[in-house]
Amino acid sequence: MNFHYKLLILIFTFLINVYSQNYYLILVSFDGFRWDYPSKELTPNLNFIEENGVKALSLQPSFPSNTFPNHISIVTGLYPQNHNIISNNIYDKFTGNYYSISDTSAVRNPKWYKGEMIWETARKQGIITASYFWPGSEINVEYRRPNYFEFYEHSRDYKTRVEGVLEWLKLPYDKRPRFINLYFDIVDTYGHKYGPKSEETNNAVKTVDSILGHLINGLKDIGIADSVNLIVLSDHGMTSTPSTKVINIEEIISNPQIKIFGKGPFVHLYGKKNDLDDAYKKLLNSKKNFSVYYKSEIPEYFNFKNNPMIGDIFVLADLGYSLLTNKDIIKDREYTKGNHGYDNNNIDMHGIFYAMGPSFKKGYKVGTIKNVNIYPLLCELLNIIPNQNIDGKLEEIEFILLR
Ligand code: AMP
Ligand code: ZN
Ligand code: ZN
Repeated sequence: MNFHYKLLILIFTFLINVYSQNYYLILVSFDGFRWDYPSKELTPNLNFIEENGVKALSLQPSFPSNTFPNHISIVTGLYPQNHNIISNNIYDKFTGNYYSISDTSAVRNPKWYKGEMIWETARKQGIITASYFWPGSEINVEYRRPNYFEFYEHSRDYKTRVEGVLEWLKLPYDKRPRFINLYFDIVDTYGHKYGPKSEETNNAVKTVDSILGHLINGLKDIGIADSVNLIVLSDHGMTSTPSTKVINIEEIISNPQIKIFGKGPFVHLYGKKNDLDDAYKKLLNSKKNFSVYYKSEIPEYFNFKNNPMIGDIFVLADLGYSLLTNKDIIKDREYTKGNHGYDNNNIDMHGIFYAMGPSFKKGYKVGTIKNVNIYPLLCELLNIIPNQNIDGKLEEIEFILLR
């Protein structure tokens, strides 16, 4: 190879490197958007991404298939047992403290969050980050948050959220974020209330798809659409939970010495050894639609037993069944029609993964992706070094990138 040719390649590679380092990365989450909702044919904007980028058959959540554990797995590359947000509601039997997603002071307390989130990794390496709502983005420690963030407000108008993101992208270059995430709840909210097959959920699917269109058009309007890598995903799916599938677990255990924590797809039980052994036998003998495990028996494939806050006994309902206690079981009560949190191997619990932009292959379809692999992918897209002690693997996902 002659000298000039080599020099040309070097300059070319350098330019590509410099240029690619400047791509923006936008991560959008549609809460509870089940893997197969796009087949409802209500999503022209997701279809646009499918045609021009990458679509996975499904995105497998980590266990349990709930909102906070999975949003945090996505931004840390860690299973919930390792980032410590093992559920939306946590009981710490060692301190007697509780964590709940509706308790603002717990949600902002850094002690619960043991994983390094993408914005922390990025900030350490000089990248400006921003979040328009994301679990874990409001921690009360400045360096663990995105540079720009919003305190969660459930009813904040969706267009306002997109406008907020576009405003960040119009900031002067030295203040402008290169990584931005945003979040929309409505598909999950309606999926719970009316069930995954309802007209209301279909309308919610249309709503978030059109807000995606609004974002894509907004990026075009400000002239940066071509330099944005855009990922649209969801944290988990949704399944129907008919009222005929309600189980009163308190009735089966019938021992007030056992603390039953949680409800719905799974519960944690805490207590003294004799009481626990008795509860375990009663649950096994009841032959109802759930699995019961001493903590040490929780199957490896859940990646869920290695956390001190997991119950002494863990009870997991079969798909669609709800574990409730006396106080929740009221005659003629209307139960929610959909839920998630079940076995993450069940396809109903799977979400979506779409990606488009200069770094992604075009018109490329892949199988199921695990959500712990997203964090190393985000790091690769931002050209930064990921936190080393993670569960996710870039090797399992990098084939969706152009090389
Ligand atoms: P889930 O119970 O798993 O369906 O949780 C979904 C709910 O989580 C949404 O309806 C929101 O109300 C709530 N949520 C989502 N993001 C946040 C956040 N950043 N802070 C507080 N609550 C949130
Ligand atoms: Zn969710
Ligand atoms: Zn939900």
